[in-house]
Amino acid sequence: MAVRTNNCLICSGTDLKQQNAIVNPFIAKRVFNSKPFTVKLLKCRKCSFKFFDLRLDDNEMDKLYAGYFTADWTKERRSYEPWLINQYCNIRFNDKNYINKANMVARKLKKYIANLGVQIKSSLDFGGDNGRVISRIFDDNVEKYVYEISNSQLVPGVRKITDPSSRTYDFIMCMDVLEHVSYPQGIIEKINKAAHKETVFYFQVPYEQPDSPGTRTKWIIQQFLLLILKFKIFTLTLKKGMFTHMGEHINYFSKKSFRQLMENAGYKNIKISIETVNHSKFISCFAQR
Ligand SMILES: [Zn+2]
Repeated sequence: MAVRTNNCLICSGTDLKQQNAIVNPFIAKRVFNSKPFTVKLLKCRKCSFKFFDLRLDDNEMDKLYAGYFTADWTKERRSYEPWLINQYCNIRFNDKNYINKANMVARKLKKYIANLGVQIKSSLDFGGDNGRVISRIFDDNVEKYVYEISNSQLVPGVRKITDPSSRTYDFIMCMDVLEHVSYPQGIIEKINKAAHKETVFYFQVPYEQPDSPGTRTKWIIQQFLLLILKFKIFTLTLKKGMFTHMGEHINYFSKKSFRQLMENAGYKNIKISIETVNHSKFISCFAQR
């Protein structure tokens, strides 16, 4: 069962600023079979991490992500979020986005390992979908694996693993995962099981803030669209926090809080930067243990 947390998930701090929010109508229905309900958006004054206090358990996560962006899942979500047009889904899965991301990682990786004297012969993309990113970072001389729960059809040259602790890899990446999960540190502990002492890690999360003018405007526009296109659903959102929606992204990192997460996990040689790819900003982080 989902739990509410009163401590910062990154630094354990208790000095948290609170703001009302609601679980968005799609997640409320799909995961909790309920109407949208009020939760808290918490902001840690110590490390600047921002997050929703509601933490889903594994079973609830499975309910949310089973069939992620398949036709049925998208159709159900679109019935609550009419702004989720085909074009968005197509852009999301446009190969060009992944090529640009892979090129950026490959370029930065080359720079990062230049002075380390490490050689990369095996690689793992943790949560790497069908392998389309990792397959473009390395050539045929590097073994490429993905750890992935969904049943994506793998691209050529990539193999799937089901147990990340079964062996170790010279390079491990984890992209667009940590903003979704209830316990980021738990995922990092799992990733660490696949590492040896010289493994190079790469993490990427969106660089977005739930209280930025851009995000606030987006939520206001979405509420307005619900009002005119899905009035019945709109009426369900009429409660405290109705203009701040807990969706799939439940964790919002800053450079500071991401560094804290890395240091807590015992990483060193931490190199964090903000990158822009496909008009979106990301926190990009290389590290070793
Ligand atoms: Zn904190």
